[in-house]
Amino acid sequence: MVSPIIDENKIEKLRELINGVNNIAITCHKSPDGDALGSSLALCHVLRRMGKNASVVTPDMVPRSLEFIPGVWEIAVFTKHEARVRRVLNEAQLIFCLDFNSLKRIDRVGEIIEQLTVPRVLIDHHLDPEDIFDLSISHPEASSTCELVFRVLLQMGELRLMDRLAASCLYVGLTTDTGGFAYSCDSPEFYEILASVMRRRIDRVMLYNKAINTFSADSVRLQGYALSEKMQLFPKQGAALIVLNKEELERFNYSRGDTESLVNKPLAIPEIYWSVFLREDPDKIKVSCRSQGNFSVSDICSHYFNGGGHFNAAGGEVAGTLDEAVAIFHQVLADLFPETDTVEQSTQEQQ
Ligand code: 5GP
Ligand code: MN
Repeated sequence: MVSPIIDENKIEKLRELINGVNNIAITCHKSPDGDALGSSLALCHVLRRMGKNASVVTPDMVPRSLEFIPGVWEIAVFTKHEARVRRVLNEAQLIFCLDFNSLKRIDRVGEIIEQLTVPRVLIDHHLDPEDIFDLSISHPEASSTCELVFRVLLQMGELRLMDRLAASCLYVGLTTDTGGFAYSCDSPEFYEILASVMRRRIDRVMLYNKAINTFSADSVRLQGYALSEKMQLFPKQGAALIVLNKEELERFNYSRGDTESLVNKPLAIPEIYWSVFLREDPDKIKVSCRSQGNFSVSDICSHYFNGGGHFNAAGGEVAGTLDEAVAIFHQVLADLFPETDTVEQSTQEQQ
């Protein structure tokens, strides 16, 4: 039994908003992941089955590793199809914002949406959503935005619209945002939702492998290099740090998505309960943090790295140099563990 966790008044308001319009735009956060794309494409597909003219727009490119999600090819990407994105947004009578909590997370698409007066509906599971939505379906306790899209359909009485294609999209987000059913999936209801999705006869093995366990040879080598040569451990603080600079990324022909899940790997070490990955992107230092148990990386990312996210999985960015980002990491260690010496145990020292 999947219980109705979303306020019935919100479901009623959503029904009214959808009934009153034809053109609907859906957008999700920049550097879209499996949950952002899976939830957006599933919702788009279902809205079309309701007879609506729905489209998905993203702030930036879909990583090649997620091109297998049904419907990806028709997404309008702002950095590639700016005029089309502007047209879709300007013609929209209703805008869905999926899998993000602040317009900052969608760059220039956020600036456009800010100027528009049409209703905005948030469906999201990040902490502390901005108060800028006409309807906010925000549940940080949910595993994923895909779970919330499922729950919205269920509570609207429209689950019959979830066909094989929509179910395949939802399965991707349920899988990727839980690290392949490793975390954020403690509630039995999660598995009831999963069972319902699987009843649509999705190609589960193919989707799971493509979503979780498909990397290019370059990416596998880059991750091996990062773990072997670049992982620093701070056992007294339970911390791990991996730093990859531009030259190293180029050496392994880095393309977006290649370091996906790398930040999780140090958490396999028993004494490590939080992990930080710093990557030198062309325009910024990208920060990814993960933790296990009662240690909030979303606090660290919002206080130190201009970001946020979930309690155990968060991210952010640093506008300065890689060295400055590393210095911030050391500041976090000093602030959180003032009594503890920063003794780094490098890979070489352990051998
Ligand atoms: P990842 O490390 O995979 O990029 O992100 C992990 C989680 O943190 C995701 O849920 C993502 O939405 C959130 N996140 C990543 N980068 C940022 C950021 O720059 N700002 C905020 N607010 N959240 C982020
Ligand atoms: Mn998500």
